[in-house]
Amino acid sequence: MEILNNYIDGNWVNSKESRTVDVVNPASQQVLGKVPYGKDTAADVASAVEAASIAFKSWSQVPVMRRVQPLYRLKQLLEEHAEDIAKTITMECGKTLAESRGELQRAIENVEVACGTPTMMQSEFSENIASGIDEFMIRQPLGVCACIAPFNFPGMIPFWFLPYAIACGNTFVFKPSEKVPLTMLKVFQLIAQLDLPQGVINMVHGGKETVDALLDHPEVKAISFVGSTRVARYIYSRGAANGKRVQAQGGAKNPVVILPDADIEISSKIITDSVFGCAGQRCLAASNIITVGDNGTIKEALYESARSRNTGYGLDEKVEMGPVITSESRSRVEHLIEKGIAEGAKVLLDGRKASIEGFEQGNFIKPTILEGLPLGGEIIRTEIFGPVMSLIALKTVDEALDFINSGHYGNMACLFTSSGANARKFRNQANAGNIGINIGVAAPMAQFPFSGWKDSFFGDLHGQGRHAIEFFTQTKVVVERWPKEWSRKF
Ligand code: NAD
Repeated sequence: MEILNNYIDGNWVNSKESRTVDVVNPASQQVLGKVPYGKDTAADVASAVEAASIAFKSWSQVPVMRRVQPLYRLKQLLEEHAEDIAKTITMECGKTLAESRGELQRAIENVEVACGTPTMMQSEFSENIASGIDEFMIRQPLGVCACIAPFNFPGMIPFWFLPYAIACGNTFVFKPSEKVPLTMLKVFQLIAQLDLPQGVINMVHGGKETVDALLDHPEVKAISFVGSTRVARYIYSRGAANGKRVQAQGGAKNPVVILPDADIEISSKIITDSVFGCAGQRCLAASNIITVGDNGTIKEALYESARSRNTGYGLDEKVEMGPVITSESRSRVEHLIEKGIAEGAKVLLDGRKASIEGFEQGNFIKPTILEGLPLGGEIIRTEIFGPVMSLIALKTVDEALDFINSGHYGNMACLFTSSGANARKFRNQANAGNIGINIGVAAPMAQFPFSGWKDSFFGDLHGQGRHAIEFFTQTKVVVERWPKEWSRKF
């Protein structure tokens, strides 16, 4: 099987690293490719950064209206190849085809928003800040920017950064997750068709050593990271210690509160979609489901909606939930369920030991519901990143808010209710960066920032929209005086 190539300076090139890891289909266990992985990928990083650094000199001088033209073409190519790319996402990442198509749609929307960079990059001008003196601010690109991506949205997350970075005049080095490199490989085959100068967009494969080479390279001016909190914290501190601008989005443990006045049927369907969609491997997956007041009916509705979910291989259109990413992931999730039981939880629905006909070796876990995890325990605070719902019964909205705000993550918090007053209080007081009111996955659209808080984000400016424009530019302020008496007389 062929080893995946890097894309450097407009060419497909072999890695300097001979060691590889397998890219494995999580449902069938078929090996889909071999990805370079080891310390010699640092030499690949050096080549990619050098190419990007040279390209920056001229790309940064190209007028912004011309810099966005390749993005219009990229949108068109992504749409034309959407089905093929969606299938690749399903094959390497495991999610259903509908989820893969949806993910790609969100990627395309970021390209569309980034086409507005000529307006978003505009700046401020003040005439006569003092007599005869004007002052203005301009936005200039930073240089070479790098992006390190996680496995769970291989086709979308790179687009929270890439189109904005290049539209602002930067050049870009992308490192996909070694678990799912094939999706962006397909996208880079489209990027290779764009009318872009060599070296503007590059891709280097690898793992930790590749990341470290990017973090330590003096020519890399900014790092955009998405992944687990442990690694996000590391990236933020090492990148910042090396003088780089860093945005690092981390993990989550998302609470959803259901008040007794919510529409039970619709809410339970939306909430189970949030918990079990993408097999629970979304950073915006609901995890702790908090019922306020009597919870008999809602518990039954959630149970029924979870139990009837069709688990299997995502390429089958009837399937509603795929496998988790690796067999290690499956063992980790099952271990966390066992730990929850040891802490005192009752298993209302047990998805362990799942076996799917035709895919017996797949990393499947069916929907699982735990009830009664102790509020002071470990599992109720741990990101499980698998199809597991924890049911928590509380008495009031204030108790629910106290519980939410005592957690160390802050990616998302949602409320289901028909009370405007409670909704207003919740959105004001819940300490999370993305709030859903009668919404199960409060994913910001491309024109809004993806606003994680607390341990779900390290940095100041998030991905997407205007935050991305600010992140990928540095401001320069000019104070100008043109004394009349200095002008040549005509
Ligand atoms: P991960 O942190 O294991 O890996 C992410 C990237 O970091 C990969 O490219 C990987 O090669 C690299 N990496 C891994 N270990 C490293 C190390 N020790 N040093 C340097 N680089 C390292 O994350 P994952 O398992 O791919 O993704 C799942 C996690 O991402 C979950 O925690 C999820 O919540 C989070 N996530 C967050 C968001 C968000 O917007 N906040 C979005 C998607 C996923």
